[in-house]
Amino acid sequence: MHSRAAIGIVAREIPGLQRSFIVHLSCRILLLFFLFAGVSACDRGPGDHQQTLLVFGTLLDIKAYTDKPDEFAAAVRGLEQTFQMMHREWHAWKGDGELVRLNRAIARGDAMRVTPELADLLRQAKRHAQQSDHLFNPAIGRLVALWGFHSDEPPAGPPPDASRIAALIAQAPAMSQLVFEENRIRASNRAVALDLGAFAKGYALNLAIRRLQAFGIGNAIVNAGGDLCVSGRHGDRPWAIGIRHPLGEGVIASVEVADGECVLTSGNYERYREHEGIRYAHIIDPRSGYPVRHVASATVISRDGGLADAAATALSVAGPQQWHRIAAQMGLAEVMLVDENGAVHVSPRMGQRIEFQQPIDRVLVSAPLQSQP
Ligand code: AMP
Ligand code: MG
Repeated sequence: MHSRAAIGIVAREIPGLQRSFIVHLSCRILLLFFLFAGVSACDRGPGDHQQTLLVFGTLLDIKAYTDKPDEFAAAVRGLEQTFQMMHREWHAWKGDGELVRLNRAIARGDAMRVTPELADLLRQAKRHAQQSDHLFNPAIGRLVALWGFHSDEPPAGPPPDASRIAALIAQAPAMSQLVFEENRIRASNRAVALDLGAFAKGYALNLAIRRLQAFGIGNAIVNAGGDLCVSGRHGDRPWAIGIRHPLGEGVIASVEVADGECVLTSGNYERYREHEGIRYAHIIDPRSGYPVRHVASATVISRDGGLADAAATALSVAGPQQWHRIAAQMGLAEVMLVDENGAVHVSPRMGQRIEFQQPIDRVLVSAPLQSQP
């Protein structure tokens, strides 16, 4: 089967960009002519516009289908500043930002007043941690660091000592131990070390879409390495995207993404430590302290980017046996898991929406379990 939608997003937009440039130029010439003639009228019509930012250590691609290129450029400039601020202030281990300082305060047993934005982010993260039975647990920063993932370079060498992992597990850091007094935050457990790596990207993608809308850009796609949120449509068609195959090459499936939706994927192929032929993924099971193995990737569609990001991580931990329950608890109906053997698990609604772009050995369709009241 041809990867129509996934390729389409590139193939459709490059000619569009050239077209909009030509239209733009000819409009200028026409505009000059009409200005002389005392008439100024030029309908450029919408076209494709694209900008790429280097933020959060990754390339962020922003595409818009719009007739307002100047507003688009202004919105992207503002977004770049906001994202640089988020990267600086909410980094888990680099520099001296707000989150690093909060982690230090927590380790001392102190409270710290944070910005309303960070307090909001942490409240949401706490809710998602509770909904996921703490499989999404952004309080395990010490474990993530012990495995070597608080580093720009991929970690090398043997896994950490089992005794050190057990010691951190015994400390049982959890988001439920965060205490909010308005925007003053403390933790009842000094072992809490916040790492928002599994959540902040989804939150930021949603924010980007809202900012673009505030500038009058209502048809856009914001994509950070395959994690994305969209608004509106791409002309007369919905935005269409491809989901990368976590075990093989290319695109495993394509999907049309509706106005306001986000698609987030967590994968153990993204970052890992490799030793003696064994890969240790950057997603850690907070119950055991060891990296997840049974899931190659988890993809979630939701209107809430932060929820989808947190859930994709939680479902990677939950694995093929437990994802139904966690998805239901998190209120999600559109989920796809690729397990370590290449079998694809989909919820019925996801199964109806996606179009596989490669032959798949086993597709298992099952609904998230209804959570008990
Ligand atoms: P993601 O790619 O969204 O799944 O996020 C993975 C990142 O989140 C890792 O690089 C860690 O910084 C952090 N992390 C790892 N395991 C967990 C977990 N179980 N819950 C929350 N954050 C985690
Ligand atoms: Mg995530």
